[in-house]
Amino acid sequence: MDRIDFRSDTVSWPMPSMREAMANAPVGDDVYGEDPTVNKLEAMAAEMVGKEAGLFVASGTMGNLTAILTHGRRGDGTIVGEDSHTFRAEAGGMAVLGGIVPNPLPTDVYGRMDLTTLEKAIYPDDPHYPNNRLILVENSYGAKGGYPIERDYFQQIRHIADKNSMIVHMDGARIFNAAVALNLDPREITQHVDSVTFCLSKGLCAPVGSVLCGSTEFIAQARRARKLVGGAMRQAGILAAAGIVSLTEMVERLADDHAHAKMLADGLAQIPGIVLEPDLVKTNMFFFELAESAPVTPAEFVQRLRDEANIWLSGGYSRRFRAVTHYWIQEADVALFLQTARAILQ
Ligand SMILES: *Cc1c(COP(=O)(O)O)cnc(C)c1O
Repeated sequence: MDRIDFRSDTVSWPMPSMREAMANAPVGDDVYGEDPTVNKLEAMAAEMVGKEAGLFVASGTMGNLTAILTHGRRGDGTIVGEDSHTFRAEAGGMAVLGGIVPNPLPTDVYGRMDLTTLEKAIYPDDPHYPNNRLILVENSYGAKGGYPIERDYFQQIRHIADKNSMIVHMDGARIFNAAVALNLDPREITQHVDSVTFCLSKGLCAPVGSVLCGSTEFIAQARRARKLVGGAMRQAGILAAAGIVSLTEMVERLADDHAHAKMLADGLAQIPGIVLEPDLVKTNMFFFELAESAPVTPAEFVQRLRDEANIWLSGGYSRRFRAVTHYWIQEADVALFLQTARAILQ
């Protein structure tokens, strides 16, 4: 990459082996089900998260929307974390396009909804209320610095859902980060949900794409919802080929990104003027704050990192920042960030 970019893992470029796989991918018309590379990716993805079938989609947002439109009908209610990506950062798709009524609940420092509150949020069977239909969960939890939520939580959610005949969908945009951080097979987490979406385009470095996984019957219905939102693509094997490289080569190495994030967080925590909670740093991202006492404004901090070391950080509008590591960030880049930040803040 042409810069040291800590803004997000979405900025990561595909590696040379990925570009080569894309160039050489066998293709067909995927709307006819005839693209062998898409079919291969969908099968691999489903296997890795322990579901029967997969559906290649253009983005994580499309995967979540397709899942919600398939599980729910107009007037159905969904319980969702109030700071979850699906509720807060997907343009309100469930309500705008699906007529699905969100019931947002607060989450704790790790991104978990309180289970007693959740049970109370399930409506009585009464015409005043929407139908109880869905519970949406997220792992790792983006708004809580990518915290990997442990599997017990999802087991308990499953139990509540079953008691109330509800469906659970997981926005697992970074499920492999969560699984690697927890040292679990992803299936140990996803076994508790009916469907899961994950992104190929973040830490896994693919240029485009996510996969929605669930039962064979669910995915067959989801194909119609994907068509509805304009997401049925043709020779999409060119893109899916990158996703296959993601799943074969890029999952286990996420541990390196986690180590780099930890290294950066531990280093930043020691610089006067920077405030963060190192214990919450478990995957490839974390939040930190610039103290009021810092000698520069947040905007100046961002500008000087860029000018002095080609280090890109998002934000600068408030004292809160997020730093994210990925394949294109190495230990030397972390060291340069720390050295530059120290110089700016001294
Ligand atoms: C990135 C992300 C998504 C999907 O984002 P797209 O940009 O649409 O691929 C969904 N949920 C979470 C938690 C994410 O981080």
